[in-house]
Amino acid sequence: LNRPNADAIIRPDFKFEDMGIGGLDKEFTSIFRRAFASRIFPPALIEKLGITHVKGLLLYGPPGTGKTLIARRIGKMLNAREPKIVNGPEILSKYVGSSEENIRNLFKDAEAEYKSKGDSSSLHIIIFDELDSVFKQRGSRGDGTGVADNVVNQLLSKMDGVDQLNNILIIGMTNRRDLIDEALLRPGRFDVQVEIHLPDEYGRKQILEIKTKKMKENSMLTPDVNLNELASLTKNFSGAELEGLVKSASSFSINRHIKVGTVAAINEDVANMKVTRADFLNALNEVKPAFGVNEEDLK
Ligand code: ATP
Repeated sequence: LNRPNADAIIRPDFKFEDMGIGGLDKEFTSIFRRAFASRIFPPALIEKLGITHVKGLLLYGPPGTGKTLIARRIGKMLNAREPKIVNGPEILSKYVGSSEENIRNLFKDAEAEYKSKGDSSSLHIIIFDELDSVFKQRGSRGDGTGVADNVVNQLLSKMDGVDQLNNILIIGMTNRRDLIDEALLRPGRFDVQVEIHLPDEYGRKQILEIKTKKMKENSMLTPDVNLNELASLTKNFSGAELEGLVKSASSFSINRHIKVGTVAAINEDVANMKVTRADFLNALNEVKPAFGVNEEDLK
């Protein structure tokens, strides 16, 4: 068996380190192996194994931990189409009355390409953010109008249409996996589920490295800024909050320079501008983690 499509599918210039994802190596590998690897096998091998491609991947965990980031990057790596991102509440409120059509539209391009190109169609990724807001357990769903039920049924029937979905991967995201309707988690639907945790200390250091890379390259950090120290001081921070911390530190630094009088002086001062450890410590008083904080951590 040869692998006719592999090169076309995995970008040859792909390197994990360039992806700008911090601390999710294990999750990335697991997602790739379980949800994407079959797509780079030759179809003949897939047939021999008697398996079908994964159609639904559920990423769950606290907000701002990189779920959308990882989905986008894996898509890029596989030369997938730019993902379509929809958000649960948006589908329900904005498109009242036409929510089913809305779901149909999500699949339209992929279905058309599959019709003309068959298995050589590119992969189409649909990211369904805040999945729990629509796909709650039956009974607790929607506003009693039945719109939510219609959307759920429409999506389920799309996911069950195996043949039409050979070139589609739906990535559902939620902060509340416990609220999701069990019907969605049955085999053949979102059957790969991966938890995306808050980063540990090592992950936080990697994320801080990514978010301060530009500053470092441009010699904007003073030598007293120690990312190991900051990683140890940021327990329970998500990737998004670490990004917020870096932004806050630079705004403290900018603030010190704004006080200068004339524009000329500002320019001169900006040329010497640095972000210091003290700026990061000030930022730590400003940016606090929203999730995962418990009594023990507050001590
Ligand atoms: P939500 O559940 O709120 O939709 P999410 O888990 O999808 O959040 P993202 O949208 O992927 O989070 O990330 C939010 C921001 O935080 C992005 O700008 C992203 O670059 C940054 N970020 C989060 N986690 C990481 C990470 N592990 N590595 C690098 N950047 C990260």
